[in-house]
Amino acid sequence: MNPTCLECSGPLLGRADKKFCDDQCRTAYHNKQNKYTSRLVRNINRQLIRNRRILEELWQKHPQQKVPLSVLYETGYDFRYSTHTRCLEPGQEYVFCYDLGLAPLENEQAFLLKKDPG
Ligand SMILES: [Zn+2]
Repeated sequence: MNPTCLECSGPLLGRADKKFCDDQCRTAYHNKQNKYTSRLVRNINRQLIRNRRILEELWQKHPQQKVPLSVLYETGYDFRYSTHTRCLEPGQEYVFCYDLGLAPLENEQAFLLKKDPG
């Protein structure tokens, strides 16, 4: 199969490792890639900030307390997004959104903790 341009799918002539017809196609392709990456990063950042705000509001109401997971579900907290995890007690892993962490407990509850990362 003959190689084709990644941007316009036109036939590629010349060097075997060529990926684009010309600089215009190369630039167009990379601009699209960068746009995609920016949108992806922006969307994830937005969800992380939303998650942190939810935890902050809960923290204001119930500092260092157990919270039912149902409360988190109701607020729209998205468990897929977190910044890091830390094991602060043996067998108890906290999932953090920046400085606020959750440790899942039994009975559909979680322990809420505020701690500077580091
Ligand atoms: Zn092209």
